[in-house]
Amino acid sequence: MISIAIDGPSGAGKSSLAKRLAAELGYVYVDTGAMYRAIGLYTLRAGQNTKDAAAVAALLPDIHLDIRPGQGAQQILLNGEDVTETVRQEQVGMAASDVSAHPAVRAFLLETQRALAARSNVLMDGRDIGTVVLPDATVKIFLTATPEARAQRRLAELQAKGQAADYATVLADIRLRDDQDTHRAVAPLRQAADAVLLDTSAIGLEESYALLKKTVLEHIA
Ligand code: C5P
Repeated sequence: MISIAIDGPSGAGKSSLAKRLAAELGYVYVDTGAMYRAIGLYTLRAGQNTKDAAAVAALLPDIHLDIRPGQGAQQILLNGEDVTETVRQEQVGMAASDVSAHPAVRAFLLETQRALAARSNVLMDGRDIGTVVLPDATVKIFLTATPEARAQRRLAELQAKGQAADYATVLADIRLRDDQDTHRAVAPLRQAADAVLLDTSAIGLEESYALLKKTVLEHIA
């Protein structure tokens, strides 16, 4: 099986680029962030503190995630409810970042993620795919951009959806999430030693896609 690991901070364009490439290659796209988001959502709905490791761990036996992967798309069901869209909300992203720091949560998702890669050719998008989940991935990409570039893009996305947002708040959220993701004790966000670094700060979506595709094709050919 061929596995493509794409890691990087939030807002670097990972998911839109990864989805598109998976569809073009005919690979299954696995969005691991959505799994952490679903656990974050469940914790919020349960009225528990997302930063409380013991409280979140106690909820895990009640959580059943059904990942329905597809080419260039993934559906996620939380105890039978399709939460694919709901988990995209800003506050759910922050809750995901909180719960993802807990070792019990990471252990809970690890086998699901590895099993998906064992079944099909996958393009898996996350923070620790190249370092922890699939250390033997066929190709590893670390896709990043400066916090400022990512904040500009996120702001444009939110505005396009008609959601009120301002640059300073979006940038502060990105910095906070980066800080949490890179400083946690378990599986922090970092570039694997054998990952190819792609920085999209100064290039647009089409150029980023061309660069990603070229890099991946060079490794799987
Ligand atoms: O990629 P996305 O923004 O959907 O991820 C939400 C959060 O889930 C991230 O901020 C990160 O804390 C966490 N995450 C993770 N490991 C992954 C994927 C996501 O810790 N493989």
